[in-house]
Amino acid sequence: LFLTFEGGEGAGKTTLIEGLAQTLRSQGREVLTTREPGGIPIAEQIRRIVLDKGNTEMDARTEALLYAAARRQHLTEKVLPALARGEVVICDRFIDSSLAYQGYARGLGVEEVRSINAFAIGDHMPALTFWLDVSPEIGLARIHAGDGREINRLDLEGLAFHVAVREGYLRLFEADPDRIVRINAEQTPEFVLNEVLSILNARI
Ligand code: C5P
Ligand code: MG
Repeated sequence: LFLTFEGGEGAGKTTLIEGLAQTLRSQGREVLTTREPGGIPIAEQIRRIVLDKGNTEMDARTEALLYAAARRQHLTEKVLPALARGEVVICDRFIDSSLAYQGYARGLGVEEVRSINAFAIGDHMPALTFWLDVSPEIGLARIHAGDGREINRLDLEGLAFHVAVREGYLRLFEADPDRIVRINAEQTPEFVLNEVLSILNARI
């Protein structure tokens, strides 16, 4: 079972994923948690390049290709083998991040970014995607309140960029409501976890 979690900055994906994995494990399931970009050494190396604050000259298409390359390696090396072993794979970000950030917010075009990602992942799509929807003002405030997370190149974007990311996710959700579940992530972490658990129980 392949589950992905999406959302803008400060949506609370990391906290939710920890709680969800713990709950599923206590129910006796084998769970793999992982993240994009990263999750394995080659993809973590790409993550460092793409998120380096110093790489101010990075071209938007280069950025999109690097994310797709990291995704390819992570999928083949880690996600697919775990799925083949029958594990639940919980991934922090996947293709929808590229569609929302590079396709929509960066203006590369959602269909263009979808096509380079089709080359990277083929037809390996998540069974279910939870979009943790939080207003950019609240999300950015959470980040700057400091949860120990390092500020990266994307955090230096202005509010308008993050508003566009949210709009991108909204369009993806509207186009594919069977796969993408919208969660109000302005609620408490406990509330968000319970909502995700009840949707999972109902759908799986
Ligand atoms: O998930 P996490 O917040 O750790 O993501 C790291 C950074 O990468 C974030 O700032 C996110 O906005 C950025 N990112 C991006 N495009 C993607 C995936 C992640 O800009 N396709
Ligand atoms: Mg996170």
